[in-house]
Amino acid sequence: MSQSCSLLHLGQEDELDYSMSDYEGPRARWCPGCGDHSVLTAVQRLLAAKNLPPEDTVFVSGIGCSSRFPHYMKTYGFHGIHGRALPLATGVKLHRPDLDVFVVMGDGDCVSIGAGHWVHAIRYNVNMVALLLDNHIYGMTKKQTSPTTPEGYTSNTQPYGSFLPPINPVVATLGITNASFVAQTAEWIPAHQYATLQAAYKHDGFAFVRILQRCPHFTDDMFTDAVQNPDAVQMLVHEDGLELPELAGRYKDRLQHDPSDLHAARRLAQDEERVRIGIFYRNESLPRYEETRHLPAHTAEDRVAILNEELDRYAI
Ligand code: SF4
Repeated sequence: MSQSCSLLHLGQEDELDYSMSDYEGPRARWCPGCGDHSVLTAVQRLLAAKNLPPEDTVFVSGIGCSSRFPHYMKTYGFHGIHGRALPLATGVKLHRPDLDVFVVMGDGDCVSIGAGHWVHAIRYNVNMVALLLDNHIYGMTKKQTSPTTPEGYTSNTQPYGSFLPPINPVVATLGITNASFVAQTAEWIPAHQYATLQAAYKHDGFAFVRILQRCPHFTDDMFTDAVQNPDAVQMLVHEDGLELPELAGRYKDRLQHDPSDLHAARRLAQDEERVRIGIFYRNESLPRYEETRHLPAHTAEDRVAILNEELDRYAI
């Protein structure tokens, strides 16, 4: 914690000023060159820029390489069970709406075992940031085919190549009722990744960001073309989305796309000829579960009485 931050204990809360080091947990133990390191740095930078108190910030994850994320953050964290990061995070946010909640999932965690939760979290549109770190493989279990593994790609579970076409998580998310923020970025383009995270954090609702992530240990050839050839990447730009003129020199293929246009977003996401990054869709007028649910206005005493009544039912 920076010096001015420690003044909180002296009652000078208005002088809070966090730096990236205030969010740094133990040294990350991902493989050297793993794209997860880049995401971690971008997230810590975001938290420092937004000056988020670590004690009011929560990272929730499931199982997988990227799900070690909460261990490396000096915030609250919940390393959950496989595929269950989203319901855990939803519970945290519904009971503590004052907290900033971030969810970190891998492609196996979100798109496979957690797919049911993913669909409903999109529809519930609870205000949080959900990051899908998509390396197209199960890394932690040593190169097994995941739902986003490209067709024909060899793995230890499908040595003759993946049999099925992959799920496109951006297309799938855009197809769910009440999807309110859908973006894609790449961890090897730090400026774009950071700007995308900023926009996701700013969004009032469930912000889903797919981050294309390299796994040099098991799939070092997965994104080679997009990493080495900027012309293989198309950047969606708009005055209501991301513009990033500083990247225009390297990423020359820039397509104007209005993020309020859902039909165009779906069309662009389905066309996989290019690696497209940017904000596909944003709509802050959609209902959020925490605002639309109707709860009886119980006092604390009411709740204790209800609980005791319930417990009495089981008393012997
Ligand atoms: Fe990263 Fe792949 Fe290593 Fe997992 S196995 S830490 S995804 S490089």
